[in-house]
Amino acid sequence: MAAELEAVCSNAHTHTTLCDGSSTPAEMAQAAWQLGFKSLGFSGHSFCPADGYGMAPVALAQYCREVLALREEYRGRLAIYLGLELDSLSELPEPGKFDYLIGSVHNLLGPTGRVWPIDAAPADTQAAIADFGGAQAYVQAYFTAFDEMLAARPVQIAGHFDLLCKYNAGGRFFDESSVEYKKIAAAVLRRHCRNNKVVFEINTGAMCRGYLQRPYPDYWLWEILRQEKAWVIVNSDAHSAANLAYQLAEQTARAKNFGLRVVTIEEIINQTR
Ligand SMILES: [Zn+2]
Ligand SMILES: [Zn+2]
Repeated sequence: MAAELEAVCSNAHTHTTLCDGSSTPAEMAQAAWQLGFKSLGFSGHSFCPADGYGMAPVALAQYCREVLALREEYRGRLAIYLGLELDSLSELPEPGKFDYLIGSVHNLLGPTGRVWPIDAAPADTQAAIADFGGAQAYVQAYFTAFDEMLAARPVQIAGHFDLLCKYNAGGRFFDESSVEYKKIAAAVLRRHCRNNKVVFEINTGAMCRGYLQRPYPDYWLWEILRQEKAWVIVNSDAHSAANLAYQLAEQTARAKNFGLRVVTIEEIINQTR
């Protein structure tokens, strides 16, 4: 008989109707409470002129207001944190405004100045690869952007590390098992997970939405996290209340069995305070 999965107690990658989610902050908080979570971190998308889903100033102000009101409403029952998923091409937010930042590369500046969305549609991936002059250059550019983002920005969590694989199931656009690919991805991961400068998330979003059968980052990259004794946080990247806990228990158990140190958002905030 399979071992009982531990109850999941937290999620720190949560979207709402204020960006591209389908549930309100209140619906997300209620779902977290009903699931028995101890904490919930909201991470709405930062405003980025290159995409259409980030929170412009009015939405951002409403987001902050609603999340902070929920924090009071649930005080003593569910710890609520005000985070932001900061795109690498967004401006930095006001210092101290958010409890934590997730750093993500959703948009990639192409060689001729065009910005390519990483996770919007397979046709964009195909066109971006052509613009970069081939899959190898595209892969290199994505991980270089990730590397530079983590080096330059004060983010606590690295979001969906290998997001560029979202539409690459079956090796449709590039070979994730090639030595070249693995070398590039592994080097960036290793450099930044050392000494917990930033905590990499295990993100179940693409599994939930049916794109991939594994989380970000892919399982082979977990070996580097284990070697570096890195902390990880398991997040659902939920866009609806129904998916708030998607595969969190399974991936947490898998990570722990593999020998990874799984932490919660509280531990990350307390460590970096
Ligand atoms: Zn994201
Ligand atoms: Zn997200």
